[in-house]
Amino acid sequence: MKLSVKSKFIELYNSEPLIIHAPGRINLIGEHTDYNNGYVMPAAIHMGVQFAFATSHHTHSLIYSLKYDQFYTLDLNAPDKVENPAWANYFLGIVHQLNAKGLRLENFNCVFDGDLPTGAGLSSSAAMECGFIFGLNEMFQLGLTQFDMIHMAQWAEHNYAGVKCGIMDQFSSMMGKDNHAFMLDCRSLEYEYLPLDLGNYTLLLCDTNVKHSLASSEYNTRRNECQQGVTIISKKFPEVKTLRDVTPVMLTACQQDMPPVIYNRCRFVVEENNRVVEASRDLKKGDLASFGKKMFAAHDGLSKLYEVSCAELDYLVQLATASADILGARMIGGGFGGCTLNLIHQNSVGTFLESARAAYRTKFGIEMSSYIVKPGKGVSVVID
Ligand code: ADP
Ligand code: MG
Repeated sequence: MKLSVKSKFIELYNSEPLIIHAPGRINLIGEHTDYNNGYVMPAAIHMGVQFAFATSHHTHSLIYSLKYDQFYTLDLNAPDKVENPAWANYFLGIVHQLNAKGLRLENFNCVFDGDLPTGAGLSSSAAMECGFIFGLNEMFQLGLTQFDMIHMAQWAEHNYAGVKCGIMDQFSSMMGKDNHAFMLDCRSLEYEYLPLDLGNYTLLLCDTNVKHSLASSEYNTRRNECQQGVTIISKKFPEVKTLRDVTPVMLTACQQDMPPVIYNRCRFVVEENNRVVEASRDLKKGDLASFGKKMFAAHDGLSKLYEVSCAELDYLVQLATASADILGARMIGGGFGGCTLNLIHQNSVGTFLESARAAYRTKFGIEMSSYIVKPGKGVSVVID
């Protein structure tokens, strides 16, 4: 960041602001399980969005994006969606929710900026929503719990950004803990912190820098295919409401009743849920090698059974498989592009990146980018 949000705030408003940091997140394992009411294993990361806030005596609130060098004048009484700037919608959605709850805000000034790549699957949008609502809650003593804020942030994403995401992103940004991931049960929202003691290993994201247009249509198709699977399985096992309720034995018992494609989709989700549970045991034991194997297995399932990978992602995972210093790698996010997550020995990052970049460029004619991510804490007040 060129200038910190604090110095910019002081330069603009000549007063001491409240500083909030809101992290992005990664998901270690548990892909496409959230909408099947299953398990995920996210961690907040050190990169995020920073906010500076203070109350103002003006008749409106002013929000300044350092990244885009752009002001937005916000009318607390009319937080309607806007075409431009798109980033204001995350905040307008939050203000709408606070108004709907009858919570009284006063006008304020806000400066914000972030070091998260946007649209790379690290959930900069959840960081925007969670940091903003957390800051208002602190400033105006609104008395909201973390769970209230998580749900209101998700509402803003659904209704003002138009992205029907699960709860994982906002949950991770709000609840993250230093050096920990957590296992989240998307059905009950019960969660358990897990130590992410990586020793000499580190988390490396390799970005394919492609986004195939299939991404959103295939996402909806997968949701439908999972539902079709549930309909078939529940004829034999009426207690089954979602794929979360399906055991491997039940699935085998129903294999003949369903088309092979539906079987494959269900099999991936059932196996992936089990992988999250087993991977949580690996972390508790500090067994990174075993954890890494599950990452590779998850990728294999995403690619062959769930069919949401692409040539670029498969290639980067293949390169990782060939490296003795990478314990595990898989595509992350919805699929058809985006990043792979690699659990790599810290001494090998430089050499792996150099050879992977060259190989990727030769094969696809595209530059790969990369980020090292560290597990970090959830939304918090920054005290310096
Ligand atoms: P992701 O959540 O995967 O990063 P999204 O498309 O959901 O991707 O959200 C990205 C959007 O969030 C950007 O297009 C922008 O509107 C907003 N955003 C994120 N970070 C910033 C920032 N530092 N400054 C301004 N807008 C931001
Ligand atoms: Mg997002």
